[in-house]
Amino acid sequence: MAKLNPFSIAQQQLDEAAEKLGLDAATHELLRWPMKEYHVLLPVRMDNGTTKVFKGYRVQYNAARGPTKGGLRWHPEETIDTVRALAAWMTWKTAVVDIPLGGGKGGVTCNPKELSDSEKERLARTYIRAVGKELGVHRDVPAPDVYTTPQIMAWMMDEYEAMAGESHPGMITGKPLEIGGSQGRGDATARGGVYCVREAGKILNVDVAKATYAIQGFGNAGQFAATLHPEILGGGTLIAASDSRGGVINKNGMDPQALVRHKLETGGVKDFPGSEPITNEALLELQCDVLYPSALEGVITSKNAPNIKAKISCELANGPTTPEADKILHEKGVYVIPDFLANAGGVTVSYFEQVQNTYNYYWTLDDVYQQLDRKMTDAFHAVHEMSKKIKAHNRLCAYMVSVQRVADACKIRGWV
Ligand code: GLU
Repeated sequence: MAKLNPFSIAQQQLDEAAEKLGLDAATHELLRWPMKEYHVLLPVRMDNGTTKVFKGYRVQYNAARGPTKGGLRWHPEETIDTVRALAAWMTWKTAVVDIPLGGGKGGVTCNPKELSDSEKERLARTYIRAVGKELGVHRDVPAPDVYTTPQIMAWMMDEYEAMAGESHPGMITGKPLEIGGSQGRGDATARGGVYCVREAGKILNVDVAKATYAIQGFGNAGQFAATLHPEILGGGTLIAASDSRGGVINKNGMDPQALVRHKLETGGVKDFPGSEPITNEALLELQCDVLYPSALEGVITSKNAPNIKAKISCELANGPTTPEADKILHEKGVYVIPDFLANAGGVTVSYFEQVQNTYNYYWTLDDVYQQLDRKMTDAFHAVHEMSKKIKAHNRLCAYMVSVQRVADACKIRGWV
């Protein structure tokens, strides 16, 4: 069989839910494809005087529940199909946490590790000149994702406002606090995931305060999960972590703060004092209570799923598990908190940021945490209730909740 691409996987996941929900053919077809997408070429002057032409995308998957929303990923392997898949998953993500937004995503095929800050700034501004007219608080609102940062959001907002000749802080989220960012946006993705782990612990009778945990992907979400797990849950032992350069393990536990500092100083988790090396693949198969897949798509497949020993897999990455692997994990009794539920904290606080920008009044950190906890806890239990009804793997249960909400919105609008 040909290797599945992420968008075929997203469609396959939807097909399973559509069948189970008994969706009519037109609604099913409408939800299988992006409603709009933009492909742009981005010529950028490099520091050495040459011009490089990058490919950029913005996909507005479905806007039935509100303006489309979703991050921008800058990655060397970005393709239109990864962006389509991520935009579909954003549609289900905003629906599962029940915020009045649709789903979208954008990307640029580039290697940010090879770009200087001024090249990144020119790329960010060129992207907005190319697709800015299609963005806006009532149209489509980008945010950070893999390898894009609050600073990049700031340049993009600045370019957009220069084009519009007026202030538009709500056109993009994940901004620095100084220019209209929200308290609590930085660690929101990981925080939302840890709230879900707390709720999963209650229903599974796992004492998460005594749990061992491992983090695959020590980027923004993974680093915050490492420190927030013990902070929110009252304890836990970090036994392993990995990033694109390698992994580290210490069964007696590692200090998460010290590991974050080590990564900051050396660029990776490798050679953390007191640890042994471990590969990304071996880390996924470790004996531990909670596994946080926090890197990219397609890391848990039919090949390694039979060897996964974690009790809970909290998917902070988008798309880490293939459909075949979902079934295997479910049969083995691994409790998967599926990506678009587990990592919905990021877009939820992005939504709070947009709300604050629109009424130009800003919340305290405590307000943000409280509202986020309420949203994540409600979403977790909506999915759990569904799982009691249909006794299927959790991703299908989460799809059933979200797809029904989006389908209802399409129907009420008179689209189908
Ligand atoms: N990129 C993040 C995600 O995949 C956040 C999206 C947003 O804040 O709009 O959920």
